[in-house]
Amino acid sequence: MRRRQFLTGLGAASLAGCSASVSLQTGSRPYWADFPPVLSRMDRVTRTVVGLRPYRPQGYRLDWETLGDKTVVHSYGHGGCGVTMSWGTAVVAADYASEAGHEDVAVLGCGVQGLTAALTLARRGHNVTIYAAELPPYTTSNIAGVLWMPTTYFDRRVATPEFLAWDRELIRKAWLGFIPYVNRPGYGVYWADHHSLGMQQRRDWTEGLPGGDDIYPELTRTTEVNLFGYAYQQRFKAMIIDPDYYLDAILQDAQLAGARIVQREFADLSEVMALPEQTIVNCTGLGAGALFGDEDIFPVRGQLTHLLPQEEINYSYVAPTENGVLYMFPRKTGIVLGGTSDYREWDRTPDPAEITRMVEGHAELAGRLRI
Ligand SMILES: Cc1cc2nc3c(=O)[nH]c(=O)nc-3n(C[C@H](O)[C@H](O)[C@H](O)COP(=O)(O)OP(=O)(O)OC[C@H]3O[C@@H](n4cnc5c(N)ncnc54)[C@H](O)[C@@H]3O)c2cc1C
Repeated sequence: MRRRQFLTGLGAASLAGCSASVSLQTGSRPYWADFPPVLSRMDRVTRTVVGLRPYRPQGYRLDWETLGDKTVVHSYGHGGCGVTMSWGTAVVAADYASEAGHEDVAVLGCGVQGLTAALTLARRGHNVTIYAAELPPYTTSNIAGVLWMPTTYFDRRVATPEFLAWDRELIRKAWLGFIPYVNRPGYGVYWADHHSLGMQQRRDWTEGLPGGDDIYPELTRTTEVNLFGYAYQQRFKAMIIDPDYYLDAILQDAQLAGARIVQREFADLSEVMALPEQTIVNCTGLGAGALFGDEDIFPVRGQLTHLLPQEEINYSYVAPTENGVLYMFPRKTGIVLGGTSDYREWDRTPDPAEITRMVEGHAELAGRLRI
């Protein structure tokens, strides 16, 4: 099919009803013409996983309080960006814990927040014990995508200006914290050529991306020659993190630095208060709701379908479609397809209709690469 015919078809069929305007410079070959298509087919599906993002409309909780004779530091409720924010929020949590002045520290939770806090504290010389019901590879952090991108973790109508200002600082800190891990053997962190696509102009198009445009290398904003023919595109280098590799690696780092791990579930706060440590860092994610009586936190269910790996793919995208959002992150171990966010949904059973939507939706997008 010739390029112009393809684009006519695209405008008429795939983007019908939206205000997308598509144009290509005559005679120029789009940079994406050589992108290998994702082979999105049911017979290439290796697994489908469901996780519950720990969401708080006002944003994550990052503070400390005195409970009885203990200092309890909280770092939980990171919604869809707990991995992204880990080197920001968990390090602040570790700072609060150090300031409490005790050598022995209990860290509750062995997801990305708990592990990052534990590693930071152990490297500072604290005696750290991680207590957690679930360890990698069975935490929510293992299920995550992961694109390093600070989005979907608060409701702009509810978050305070103070939270937003502080969050901006922490985003930058978190970004810097991840940089040393890129391409480091065994950590599963890589750069990808990321595309944030839109049918309409998004707020971050004019206001800048979260944390500031300068932390998105090679950022371009274009309204022409965009991937899949979208009207708006922000393209930049973004970190893709394979959490199965990454969590194992930082867990090992934490252990090498001296952290101990105790697998146990706390039924209620009284069991936490019975711990021998006087300083406690609470990184229990969604579990914090029941354990610490936080009624603001709730799950945002997400389902991901993994395909066989395609080593030749090093681009990624988030694309709104008429049938909902679709995103694709390439890991060395497989291609991750995602795009669901079900608010206040606790059911972790994979939805077959959603698998079909993803596999067919990504196949349709891949088909648009043919010019
Ligand atoms: C489908 C999906 C896609 C995602 N994609 C991304 C992404 O692209 N980028 C990104 O940054 N983030 C992403 N996330 C979000 C990310 O997974 C979470 O924000 C992050 O995992 C939260 O980390 P955490 O350490 O706070 O919680 P968890 O990983 O849930 O860890 C909580 C720990 O606390 C323990 N715990 C809880 N309650 C108790 C208790 N009562 N007693 C003892 N232990 C307890 C648990 O066992 C576990 O060890 C995604 C999430 C999902 C579901």
